[in-house]
Amino acid sequence: MPYKDPEEAKRHRKEYYLRNRDKMNVVKHAYYLKHKAEWRRRNYAQRKKHPEWRRAYRRRMHQRKRNFLINSLGGKCSLCGFSENDILEVHHVKNDPVWTKRDRTRMEEFSWSQIKLMLPNLKLLCPNCHHLSHLDKQNRIQYRSSRLYGKDQRRRIKQRKQEFIINRLGGECSKCGYATRYILEVHHVNGAPKHWSRHLTSVGYSKIESEISNGNLILLCPNCHTSAHPAS
Ligand SMILES: [Zn+2]
Ligand SMILES: [Zn+2]
Repeated sequence: MPYKDPEEAKRHRKEYYLRNRDKMNVVKHAYYLKHKAEWRRRNYAQRKKHPEWRRAYRRRMHQRKRNFLINSLGGKCSLCGFSENDILEVHHVKNDPVWTKRDRTRMEEFSWSQIKLMLPNLKLLCPNCHHLSHLDKQNRIQYRSSRLYGKDQRRRIKQRKQEFIINRLGGECSKCGYATRYILEVHHVNGAPKHWSRHLTSVGYSKIESEISNGNLILLCPNCHTSAHPAS
């Protein structure tokens, strides 16, 4: 008996599915086992042909899981109450067993059941509070000897350059005035110049100086910086 109203038909199909779900899954799985090779070949071909479908799917799932987390964790920074949904971040409170398996890092790679398991160990933080809560781990440099090698040396050079820039630019966020110096970030107003390396260690002082005199460098706190680069 066909339904004229498409909404009605949809509702009917859904009810039928819910009533016969187990039976249908058995049939489906049997079909899958019988035609496994062909099914996989077809699936693979389609994935090759439409790589954008997979990307769109991942983006969609990411957004849905993100929305779920933000709604179920209260929708604002748990330390300072900052509530701009677009830039809130999820912080892992303890070493929770689901997350510490580091083979997965992105939210869309976790199943819904895993996310629900992780939920008690998660906390919403704004970028500022999130940076502060990880600061100890990142800045653990020991200046015991006067000569540092390798990684530590590069870190010290980076820190000196950071301090130089922060001193030259006034030491506070140019949008909101946030003044916790350690977590301030450098933002290029008109985009980074061509030879500006991602790693501050390999950017010379003269280049930094010329960028500052051009007015292309400003200081932003992580919150304002994240808002300045919106995810498309
Ligand atoms: Zn906060
Ligand atoms: Zn700011």
